Formats: sequence, C-alpha cells, structure tokens
Amino acid sequence: MSPARVNCPTCQRELAWDTAPFRPFCSERCRLMDLGAWLSEQHAIPGDEVPGQEGPALPEQSLKDST
Ligand SMILES: [Zn+2]
Repeated sequence: MSPARVNCPTCQRELAWDTAPFRPFCSERCRLMDLGAWLSEQHAIPGDEVPGQEGPALPEQSLKDST
C-alpha cells in the first residue's frame, strides 16, 4: 500500500497525488511556471526537427576517380 506520490516537475518537491489540487504540481504557481517554461521551450525551437533522412553525400565516387 504505497500512497501515490509524485515529484513536482517544477520544484521537485514530493507531494501526495491524491491530495494535490494542482497535480502533478505542488501548487498553482509551479503549474504556471512549468507551463511558461514549456511554452518558451516551444518558442526556442525554430524548426530544428530533422526527420532523419539526411544521409551521407556519397563522396566515394571521387575516390574512384584515380585509376
Ligand atoms: Zn512545485
């Protein structure tokens, strides 16, 4: 029987899940702070998402040039 305990993502304080009115945060303040951080983080990403299709440019052909 372990009571559900979580750590506030903002201040890392441990709180009881059942009684936390602003879960998973310990307080409304932390919730707003996290929301602000999240939004600013979204803002900080200018579109740097690489889909992963970026392969090597295959420069090996130029190596075969010397015969
Ligand atoms: Zn907190």
